[in-house]
Amino acid sequence: MAAELNLNEAVLTTRLDTVVNWARKNSLWPMPFGTACCAIEFMSVMASKYDMSRFGAEAMRFSPRQSDMMLVLGTVTNKLAPVLRTIYAQMAEPKWVISVGVCASSGGMYRTYATLQGIDRVVPVDVYVPGCPPRPESMLYGLMKLQEKIEKESLTMRKDHIARFYESLNRQKELEASRGLSPQQAVREMLLDAGDRGLATIF
Ligand code: SF4
Repeated sequence: MAAELNLNEAVLTTRLDTVVNWARKNSLWPMPFGTACCAIEFMSVMASKYDMSRFGAEAMRFSPRQSDMMLVLGTVTNKLAPVLRTIYAQMAEPKWVISVGVCASSGGMYRTYATLQGIDRVVPVDVYVPGCPPRPESMLYGLMKLQEKIEKESLTMRKDHIARFYESLNRQKELEASRGLSPQQAVREMLLDAGDRGLATIF
């Protein structure tokens, strides 16, 4: 007599989003955008004591095309804002950003005309890590929060999110071409325009 097949033991059902997100959250490829002291603190996060590889994110890449998680570590000036946008645009999709420390998140103590008052004005940010500098444990907690967020994402929502950024990048390129502006001037114009319209971001 043929053995009965118990479907409960043989078949596992799940949603596509769940499987894809499980793989994504456990295989993040980080790219450090280090501009100041937070980047030094980040070195210890990658070293053996704190060891970010325990979270599946040890494949550090310095090429945006081989990364899907950018960590912004330090002060970002207005002059650097278009560079940050270009690097974000070049990263593999889907992509995520962690803003590490008060400088990246809000300009920190640099309340000056030269400093970008928060990178989330020019690129989408997924997780903010507070502190100056944040402790390695805080950075790891930020990574865990991002993993939780990825777990709940729907695949289509992610595409919309990135598409909005690309639209703003096209607007920036149009401004540069039509008015002969440098990338820095174009981003500055977009920030001023957004401010006039009561918006916090340019995308
Ligand atoms: S948040 Fe503090 S430690 Fe980090 S870059 Fe700014 S000044 Fe340096």
